[in-house]
Amino acid sequence: MKNLPVIKDGPPPSGPGEALYVAAVPHVEGRLCLNCALWVPTQRCVIHDASLEVRGSMVCGYHVLGSPFESDEAAADFEQRMVGRVTPETSGLIEAPPTGTRCGNCAYFAAEGGKGGACLRVAQEITKKGWIPAEVELYGCCAQWSSTVNEWSSADDGGFAWDAEGWDEFAPKR
Ligand code: SF4
Ligand code: SF4
Repeated sequence: MKNLPVIKDGPPPSGPGEALYVAAVPHVEGRLCLNCALWVPTQRCVIHDASLEVRGSMVCGYHVLGSPFESDEAAADFEQRMVGRVTPETSGLIEAPPTGTRCGNCAYFAAEGGKGGACLRVAQEITKKGWIPAEVELYGCCAQWSSTVNEWSSADDGGFAWDAEGWDEFAPKR
């Protein structure tokens, strides 16, 4: 990747561990409840209250890539070992984009063509002078994923355009 800039201002970054970054996995376009190991096809999730409808088209920050439980019966043993449940407010449960969440459709992604880019939410390094964006994969993802166009964005499609020379244009608008 090109030389990454040191950002001196802007939203406070997370480190890759804090953001729970997950690298790309072959043939997985995005994160959905449909490909989460904690989902049950009766439209629910084992870590949320059983009465909450959780559709396969949704996703939350606890996503664990894998095969869903096959049935309520198959999930029963796991649920017996659970103590408490998370709420949709704390898990960040949302309706996901059609093919799921990934860096490539995240508002913080600054594409560099090809398979990756820089993340303007997750820092690979935080120094006294500022922070350096993490390099992320197009099909990677993390719990900080957002569809929201924030004050840093200047691209019409709601994302960032990667241009190291033109980086200044991404400075926060005040
Ligand atoms: S709500 Fe979260 S933990 Fe539950 S199935 Fe969906 S992505 Fe997985
Ligand atoms: S681009 Fe979005 S999903 Fe990817 S690491 Fe950054 S915040 Fe997370």
